[in-house]
Amino acid sequence: MRWIENVERFVFGAECLGCRAPSGALDPWLCPECVKELERESTVELSPGPDTYSLYPMRPLTRRLVHALKYRGISGMATYLVKHSASVRCGLVREELSMFPKPLYFVPVPLHRARYRERGYNQAEKIAAALSLALDGKVCRWLKRRTFVVSQTKLSKEERERNVAFAFECVLKNPPTSGTVIVVDDVFTTGATTSACLAAFGRDFALPIKVCTLLYDEPASAVADFVADNQMEWEVE
Ligand SMILES: [Zn+2]
Repeated sequence: MRWIENVERFVFGAECLGCRAPSGALDPWLCPECVKELERESTVELSPGPDTYSLYPMRPLTRRLVHALKYRGISGMATYLVKHSASVRCGLVREELSMFPKPLYFVPVPLHRARYRERGYNQAEKIAAALSLALDGKVCRWLKRRTFVVSQTKLSKEERERNVAFAFECVLKNPPTSGTVIVVDDVFTTGATTSACLAAFGRDFALPIKVCTLLYDEPASAVADFVADNQMEWEVE
């Protein structure tokens, strides 16, 4: 947590990150009602694509918490959301992943360098670390973001789409012969980012690949977020 948040909490008293009401019983970010709501949301089983699992639906509460993780410097929110997920504790995610070969390799979607500098951490890495702890796997930084030499804003829509499809490369030299890869991201929207990650592993990659995200957002409501997220990547390196 940023020091400024600590000072604010000290001076003004703590308020719930979910409903914004002041509360003396935060745990440490949510009031008891919001914790209950969060746990209720996490019982919804979400599989927005083939071999893709999300821990929570996009709701005002879950959106605010992931926003805090990405834009307010509250990196501990990744562990918090994974810990409160019924899907990880005893539901779909745990069941599905228990059926696949071990070890589980949690591979975070890499963050753009400029974003990393601004944020100080990659939220997908924090989520991968929390998942690997909960599900007994390991975090593997096997994907790298490619850098584009031409400003993407000058490209046609088709050229941009092609660049998104090849946005990542796999830096794994000697792939393991057994286990399961789980690509980890914060939000699953159109699936463009995760498809690009799968493409990076290539057709010859022998291990099964799954995708796990904190949130599932239906594409219609996610278009604006997707555009905003990708604009940064269009910049010249
Ligand atoms: Zn609350």
